[in-house]
Amino acid sequence: MSNKRDFYEILGVSRSASADEIKKAYRKVAMQYHPDRNPGDKSAEEKFKEAAEAYEILSDTDKRAKYDRFGHQAFAPGMGGGGYGGGMNAEDIFSQFGDIFGDDMFGSFFGGGRRGGGGGRASRGQRGSNLRIKMKLTYEEIAKGVVKNVKVKKHVVCNTCGGNGAKDKNSVQTCGTCNGSGQVRKVTSTFLGQMQTVTTCPTCNGEGSTVTAKCGNCKGEGRVYGEETISIEIPAGVQDGMQLSMSGKGNAGERGGMPGDLIIQIEEESHTELHRDGLNVAYDLYISIPDAVFGTQVEVPTIDGRAKIKIPPGTQSGKIFRLKGKGFPEVQGYAKGDQLIQVNVWTPQHLNAEEKAALEKMSGSENFKPHPAKGEKSFFDRIREAFN
Ligand SMILES: [Zn+2]
Ligand SMILES: [Zn+2]
Repeated sequence: MSNKRDFYEILGVSRSASADEIKKAYRKVAMQYHPDRNPGDKSAEEKFKEAAEAYEILSDTDKRAKYDRFGHQAFAPGMGGGGYGGGMNAEDIFSQFGDIFGDDMFGSFFGGGRRGGGGGRASRGQRGSNLRIKMKLTYEEIAKGVVKNVKVKKHVVCNTCGGNGAKDKNSVQTCGTCNGSGQVRKVTSTFLGQMQTVTTCPTCNGEGSTVTAKCGNCKGEGRVYGEETISIEIPAGVQDGMQLSMSGKGNAGERGGMPGDLIIQIEEESHTELHRDGLNVAYDLYISIPDAVFGTQVEVPTIDGRAKIKIPPGTQSGKIFRLKGKGFPEVQGYAKGDQLIQVNVWTPQHLNAEEKAALEKMSGSENFKPHPAKGEKSFFDRIREAFN
């Protein structure tokens, strides 16, 4: 009926274990799977909760007797067992710790509520280092944002020992010097009276436990060199040189220490036709003399596919068109740049005899003589206007 594991098995004790043995066993298991020591490890979290449930029942004489007679059924809904059925929440589990470990044990974990900061506990092995990678992105990817799955070579948590560096669970022992608290108290006499200082336990370096036999796979380090495929979400609008940081995705720490961060440095791939300037994008459009004279419709590339624009008859070289909102979005903002298109009328560099003759015939015409309108804006003004 129930797929729950046996409570005695979870704590690794015999059915005839004394209350004291149960307490000790729970303490060991809870420390091994404590979320603070296994950040992000779902299976450790499950084991941690499982152990808390087992302890809740086995530490209570009444409940233990019921469990011994009826098994998990004793606490199933409808049996009046009052049970643990709903699962314990973190609050419940941690409230057990006060009794078992004393207030010092997970002081830093409880935060201000239970115990003032007080330096907390050094706990765990050394934090993993940050990892840096470069990521090349196209304009199109930057425009919309992109999710990249990247294989990253780095230190990963050792699968064999789960990161604690121990050969098996029997080779993790509560440190005898500090009784697992990771801290030792020293009382010194000064002229002001006795002073108590708390320092990191020298035997276990604040880890609270010692490893008697090392894991063969990682040689006790709790991590191995390997690789992980990381899904990296790049928000739209990033720019060349920007750095994004993913917390906890860097190198795994030693013996369950916090992992470092993954730092992603953005590199923009240059585009063959478009040029980025902040949020705006520039495009040089070349049109023929007849198109400039008669007007036309052309397709231009944008960072989001192609767009059609209309070139009115009589368009001059140097004219700047603006496609509103076709530029880059602001990272985590609402602003959007524009695409600016500057028209260049293509002057032919090679003509055949027929074309030459035709042009020569027209060159005398009044219509071919440049006569810009009076009061026309200067090109400075046009550029300024386009970019504002
Ligand atoms: Zn290992
Ligand atoms: Zn110690």
